[in-house]
Amino acid sequence: MYLLTQNRKLQKSAGLKDNWQIMGLSLSPHNSSGRQVCKYATSCTEFCVLEHVGHSVMKSVKEARQRKTDWFFDDRTWFKEALGLDVAEHQRRCEKTGVRCGVRLNVGSDLPWERIFPELFERFPGVCFYDYTKWPNRIVPNNYHLTYSVSERDRKTDNKHVLRYLEAGSNVSIVCNVEYNPAHHRIGKLQQSITIGGKRYKTVDGDRHDLRIPETDGRGRVVLLRYKGSLKSRNEAIKSGFCWSLPRSPGVQAPILN
Ligand code: SF4
Repeated sequence: MYLLTQNRKLQKSAGLKDNWQIMGLSLSPHNSSGRQVCKYATSCTEFCVLEHVGHSVMKSVKEARQRKTDWFFDDRTWFKEALGLDVAEHQRRCEKTGVRCGVRLNVGSDLPWERIFPELFERFPGVCFYDYTKWPNRIVPNNYHLTYSVSERDRKTDNKHVLRYLEAGSNVSIVCNVEYNPAHHRIGKLQQSITIGGKRYKTVDGDRHDLRIPETDGRGRVVLLRYKGSLKSRNEAIKSGFCWSLPRSPGVQAPILN
C-alpha cells in the first residue's frame, strides 16, 4: 500500500509561479477510526471536509484511510520506513520531471510530525513539507511550514494566539462563509484584508492552491478558506464559531476552482 497519494485539492496550482508536484498522507480524521489523530480538534470534527465532503464520503476512500491509520498506530517502525520510501520515490520522480517537490503529511489529521518522525525532515532537506495545524507552539524544521488553523477556541481568548502568530510573521487560516459553489460557477469574492484585535492583516485566497508556504502566501497573512458544505451546515458552522461570518463582497470570483 502506498501511504502518499495525490488528489485534485493538493494538485490545484492556479496562481503558483513554479510547477509543483504535491503528495499527501490522508489518515482518518479526529477519532473516526477509533484512534485520535487530531488532539486539538474542536467542532471542526462535524464539518471536516476530509470526512464529510466530496470523495471523502466514499466507502473505499474511508477504508483506505482507516487502514493507514491502523498501520500508523499498530506498527510505527514499519509505517515510518514505508513513509520514508514514499517520500524518496516522490522526490526522485519530481527531479526526473523537473518539478518542485511538496508533501503534506496531515491531509486528514493534525499530528506533530516533527516529534513523531524528526529524521524525515533531515533526510529530505530538498522536500518542502507543509501543513495546517491547531496545535499551539509547534517548533518545526526549516523545511516544514505550518499555517495555524483558527478555531472557536481562539475567540474565547480574544485571538491571543492568532495575533501572536501573525505578529511573528507566521500565517493563520480562517474558514469563512463566502460562497463556494463551483458546480454553478459561484465562487464568492474574498476581502483583501481583515481586522483582528484592532489590526489589519492582508488576506490570501486559500482556495486557489493548497501549497501553504511563505514563498507562495507571504508572511503574517490570513489565509481565507470558503466553507465547503451545504447552506444548512454552513449556518451551523457559523453558530458553533468554526466558520467566520464576513461581510459580503460584491461580485463573483472567476471560476478558477474545482
Ligand atoms: S483538526 Fe483538521 S483534519 Fe482534524 S477534524 Fe479538524 S478539520 Fe478535520
